[in-house]
Amino acid sequence: MIDTRFSSLPLSGEMLANLDSLGYKSMTPVQAQSLPHVLKGKDLIARAKTGSGKTAAFGIGLLSRLNMRKYRVQTLVLCPTRELADQVGKELRRLARFTHNIKVLTLCGGMPFGPQIASLEHGAHIVVGTPGRIQEHVRKGKLKLNDISTLVLDEADRMLDMGFRDAIADLAEQTPSNRQTLLFSATYPEGIQEISRDFQRSPVKVEVESHH
Ligand code: ADP
Ligand code: MG
Repeated sequence: MIDTRFSSLPLSGEMLANLDSLGYKSMTPVQAQSLPHVLKGKDLIARAKTGSGKTAAFGIGLLSRLNMRKYRVQTLVLCPTRELADQVGKELRRLARFTHNIKVLTLCGGMPFGPQIASLEHGAHIVVGTPGRIQEHVRKGKLKLNDISTLVLDEADRMLDMGFRDAIADLAEQTPSNRQTLLFSATYPEGIQEISRDFQRSPVKVEVESHH
């Protein structure tokens, strides 16, 4: 049997206390199957439906792996829409709230550039956003991807449906090749398997049943 206690993972006391205060009593199935590998820095491709707790399945792992001595963008989370990026940004901030000074920046299209550029100039550890807008910040030289150690493709099937295949490839190619790449999707169409082949190294595969 898989251990579903958060305390079975190599997490800090602050993280365990925060999970307890959030009322997260035990890991959801996708978390229990993903987190041990995510924490070891492995690549992972996970299929699980909406509401299964995918954000914490990558979020707890990437927060624990941040190098807090480096005030650089180390994690890039790509999401299909502004709404989803905002949700992920919020959840990451909640997960990080007992861990001091972790800066999460959300950068999405349809918003003015000025404040986003000002925030980037202040710096961040984690950037969450939509692929097109992230590409524009990279093109303008406002966001550097050379310190990225973890790339997350959240709701990857929806990003492909929205035509972000080339943007994802462009961004992935600009990050260091030894990065960790985590791919989350509700479905596995051919395009997802292609992305996984192109941008992941021996990913751990996680599939969670869609019924309870
Ligand atoms: P998904 O990305 O799979 O659609 P989310 O990451 O948005 O799911 O999580 C769905 C909800 O479940 C959120 O409100 C989140 O705070 C909550 N949640 C996540 N993990 C746990 C847990 N281990 N225990 C209790 N609630 C959780
Ligand atoms: Mg999600």
